[in-house]
Amino acid sequence: MAQDTNRLTRHILLAMLLGIGLGACAQWLLESLALPSLNTFFHTWLSGGLFWVIGKVFVASLKLLVVPLVLVSLVCGAASLSAGSELGRVGLKTLILYLLTTALAISLAMLAAVLFEPGVGVSLETRGPVQVNTPTSFANVLVGIFPSNPFAAMVEGNMLQVIVFALLLGTALRQAGTAGQRIHAQFNDWNEVVMVLVGLLMRFAPYGVFALLFNLFAEKGFATLQDLALYFMTVLLVLLAQMLLVYPSLLVFLARLNPLIFLKKMRQVHVFAFSTASSNATLPVTLQVVEKRLGVDNRIASFAIPLGATLNMDGTAIMQGVATVFIAQAYGVDLSMSAYLLVILTATLASVGTAGVPGVGLVTLSMVLQQVNLPVEGIALIMGVDRLLDMLRTAVNVTGDAAVACVVAASEGKLNPECYAQQTGVTESG
Ligand code: ASP
Repeated sequence: MAQDTNRLTRHILLAMLLGIGLGACAQWLLESLALPSLNTFFHTWLSGGLFWVIGKVFVASLKLLVVPLVLVSLVCGAASLSAGSELGRVGLKTLILYLLTTALAISLAMLAAVLFEPGVGVSLETRGPVQVNTPTSFANVLVGIFPSNPFAAMVEGNMLQVIVFALLLGTALRQAGTAGQRIHAQFNDWNEVVMVLVGLLMRFAPYGVFALLFNLFAEKGFATLQDLALYFMTVLLVLLAQMLLVYPSLLVFLARLNPLIFLKKMRQVHVFAFSTASSNATLPVTLQVVEKRLGVDNRIASFAIPLGATLNMDGTAIMQGVATVFIAQAYGVDLSMSAYLLVILTATLASVGTAGVPGVGLVTLSMVLQQVNLPVEGIALIMGVDRLLDMLRTAVNVTGDAAVACVVAASEGKLNPECYAQQTGVTESG
């Protein structure tokens, strides 16, 4: 059974490499041969046909799990806490760590951008105008947390509202005596069943990952990277620093956990995040790995992971930090010290308001730019490489959620050290 997990992870990694490699080759071939009939065949039957269908079905199958998983898992978690104060303590620790890691991420990002100056000398004329949707304001995020209709929240996939409803329902179950216990037992059964469903759908993952990445690289290749190489490299460097230095330090210093085991077990989650560019779509996988392979108790994981997938976006904050300095440099604007502090504050809040779906980080970036009076049109400068960076930053986003969940669980004595240390884990299908 444990071998199944490793085999599936290997297959997913292989699918990822094949998708990137073959996709880039296909793009190069199509461009160099420039045969209209081949182009039509390719776009109609492969990238716009078979692979498009497989990719769409894969992402839909992940998304279909999110609402039932969060609801059932979080109700079980909240119902099993020993008292309401425990929820308060765990919630506070989680939120503080989420905000701290995000603020740290963005400070690192701006430091790197000031050092490497990726925006100096960038030409402003060649790009077209940009259309940016109005971002959700922080106040709207706060007001929107409370559901007036939990079913509408579930239908719309409004995760914050689903989280609040699940916490309330779980708390009520805990206080409702034997009636509560009966329903709690049913939710526990549902939790098992939904986890098995996650495992079933994950068997399809190698095909889905391959199709998504093949299509992306067949369409864009690596060509757009050349223009914005320094910007891309700066964001990448900080993302790596966050992933390989900041989170491991958190694990070592706050929880005395071996970070190598953590990173190794998170590999599968990284591939999902990378290929879907969505923390939300990755949520079922993150939750499963954090509970079953890293040994975090359901009471912590079911709360911290969905909350993190909705609120905690360190990778996005990094992109926004570098992008803001990049745009300021490109437009020749000198940012003052107070402007830097304002960027740290707004980008931390903007990342809270960023939904865990592809490309939203770019939308909330406009909120950060407006705060420091930079032209929102500057976003057009970086759009070319944003899709690839989105995939990379999403991997960092979900790693941050898992690291914080481990630290909080360890501090509460709710992390199973044997499960964490075990080299081979529980299989996806149970
Ligand atoms: N795609 C990111 C995520 O889902 C959000 C973003 O930065 O656009 O985590």
